Amino acid sequence: MATSREYDAVVVGAGPNGLAAAIVMAEAGKSVAIFEANESAGGGVRSAELTLPGFVHDVCSAVYPLGIGSPFFRSLPLAQYGLEWIQPPAALAHPFEDGTAILVERQVETTASGLGAESASYRRVFAPLVAEWENLSIDFLAPPRWPRHPVKFARFGLSAIQPAWRFSERRFSGDRTKALFAGLAAHSMLPLEHWGSAAFGLVLGAAAHALGWPIVRGGAQRLADALTAYLRSLGGEIFLQRRVQNLSELPRSRAVLCDVTPRQLLGIAGALLPSSYQDKLKNYHYGMGAFKIDWALSAPVPWRAQECSRAATVHLGASLPEIARSERMAWRGLHANEPFVLVAQPSLFDASRAPAGKHTLWAYCHVPNGSSFDMTERIVSQIERFAPGFRKTILAPCVGGPAELERRNANLVGGDINGGAATLGQLFFRPTRHLYSTPAPGLYLCSSSTPPGGGVHGMCGYFASKRALRDLF
Ligand SMILES: Cc1cc2nc3c(=O)[nH]c(=O)nc-3n(C[C@H](O)[C@H](O)[C@H](O)COP(=O)(O)OP(=O)(O)OC[C@H]3O[C@@H](n4cnc5c(N)ncnc54)[C@H](O)[C@@H]3O)c2cc1C
Repeated sequence: MATSREYDAVVVGAGPNGLAAAIVMAEAGKSVAIFEANESAGGGVRSAELTLPGFVHDVCSAVYPLGIGSPFFRSLPLAQYGLEWIQPPAALAHPFEDGTAILVERQVETTASGLGAESASYRRVFAPLVAEWENLSIDFLAPPRWPRHPVKFARFGLSAIQPAWRFSERRFSGDRTKALFAGLAAHSMLPLEHWGSAAFGLVLGAAAHALGWPIVRGGAQRLADALTAYLRSLGGEIFLQRRVQNLSELPRSRAVLCDVTPRQLLGIAGALLPSSYQDKLKNYHYGMGAFKIDWALSAPVPWRAQECSRAATVHLGASLPEIARSERMAWRGLHANEPFVLVAQPSLFDASRAPAGKHTLWAYCHVPNGSSFDMTERIVSQIERFAPGFRKTILAPCVGGPAELERRNANLVGGDINGGAATLGQLFFRPTRHLYSTPAPGLYLCSSSTPPGGGVHGMCGYFASKRALRDLF
């Protein structure tokens, strides 16, 4: 394909997990090369001028609680390679129609004190989790195994396993906090009535206090660039614009690690896999898709609750029932009139993202997998609802429905941004009970279709590569 050289390991795909897998190999002294389909490395961690010259947009991910908290990323000298996290004053804003908003501040106590009568229940849910964050995160950012802190993890698990709706109704005392929790839990891309959906709300809510919800100065691409530069400093190689159609195209190596989802693995390695394993991969379940819009704006978003400009991330959904309806509809193949919208406004905290005085905005909602329905007007209306006058600030949009997202990155099957649904059956044992290993000797999966799943943390790549090192070297 690109080279006649032999390597200890070859990685297909340069997303954060592919890069992490390659770095683990290189740090262990192994020769490694990545083959990436796109013209730039990063997968879900890229930036580009999607709208107008001078406006830098994050093509996929934008906000990184699990990135800054990743035990693996934290072990790497990424700051030396240009990575700079920006922590907005507040992690998250959740506005309401009456012009008020909940601000999730770095401190649990400051957040709770802004909640009035709802403060005690917020404190009761999040303070213990934040206090135990270091111990708990080691276990939930890992494949299924006997937990390092079994009692604490079991206590967390009893809450996390619950449907977010039920957890929210039982544990929070007011409608505003219930809506806040629903927004956090909706990152699961599951209906909030589904078992396990509370886990996402608890982890992301606790992470807001324990780690913050930072963005990357200069854009997401800088995180990918730092990983790439560090890999190269260790002797790792990256070949861009090399879409792997079949593993036979790759140079010889002892290990092949694939940062792809099960459907693509079937395409590029199917002939090597027994039919029973192929059947399991065929039965793997992809989740809802995303419908994303990036805008160049002439001014900041005119939030009715002005304090929303203290956070890079804003969640738009008026109540727990409204957010739950939006997620349930997308899961069932329908499109909500008032979709739950996730917004990021990085240029408020990073002047390098847009020309002076101008801004970028990033937003998406969940839609049925593979949907071709145009959600643009519904997303714009939802932002207008909480920020009247928003429409007038738009200079240029760039719209990406599921098909466009998949065109940008083949791993986004049907627009699924998490490499497969995080249903209980696929939360721990993904994509099969073999996790990273496959029945083909030397062939491993290392994408977010393996534990611990979606999000930019590199832990799937880290554990896959450790597995390969143990098996083969
Ligand atoms: C719109 C959107 C918003 C998101 N927001 C956030 C967020 O704010 N925070 C967060 O933590 N996460 C977010 N995510 C999720 C996050 O981006 C992913 O979970 C993460 O990137 C998964 O990493 P990965 O390495 O497994 O796969 P990817 O990042 O998808 O990388 C896979 C790479 O493999 C390459 N590839 C695929 N097939 C082949 C092939 N055959 N040959 C060669 N190369 C191939 C692709 O081109 C790609 O570069 C978001 C995702 C999307 C799409």
